[in-house]
Amino acid sequence: DPRLQAISQAIRVVPNFPKQGIMFQDITTLLLDHKAFKDTVDIFVDRYRDMHISVVAGVEARGFLFGPSIALGIGAKFVPLRKPRKLPGEVISEKYSLEYGNDCLELHVGAVQPGERAIVIDDLVATGGTLSAAIRLLERSGAEVVECACVIGVPDVKGHCRLIGKPLYVLVEPR
Ligand code: 5GP
Repeated sequence: DPRLQAISQAIRVVPNFPKQGIMFQDITTLLLDHKAFKDTVDIFVDRYRDMHISVVAGVEARGFLFGPSIALGIGAKFVPLRKPRKLPGEVISEKYSLEYGNDCLELHVGAVQPGERAIVIDDLVATGGTLSAAIRLLERSGAEVVECACVIGVPDVKGHCRLIGKPLYVLVEPR
């Protein structure tokens, strides 16, 4: 797809952020580039439009920048998966481990109905720990997770990673 190169080039790489040795993939510059941003959303919308998806779940925070546009494009609802103590209603929670320490995602009870078909959106997948927690939350609600989708995927997981058995779709590798 000829659009992918421009999408990749619109992502800024910031060395040593947020700490020494990390090459941070900054998608805020992708959002500044109207064509690359629209192409990114369009690629996901074209992929999921006819797959009977009723739930687009976005991972806080950068999954919120892509998920709602995709949801509107395919005629699905958007469901935010949030960090602890942000959602005001009754929630279910899933802990996951990061390189340093632990984190947790939460989902509003009742946001997703049993039997719904869902996709999970985030900006970047590295170990897949975050997406795996998202999958567990949706499955505990009775939803079927059809696929996870990210703009950027590290090469080990790109294309054909199993995230606790679920397919992963990514557009580009880190620069
Ligand atoms: P994982 O759980 O797959 O190891 O890490 C993925 C999570 O870390 C995503 O929620 C993603 O937003 C965040 N993340 C880690 N490194 C980067 C990075 O370099 N750029 C961006 N934009 N997000 C990152």
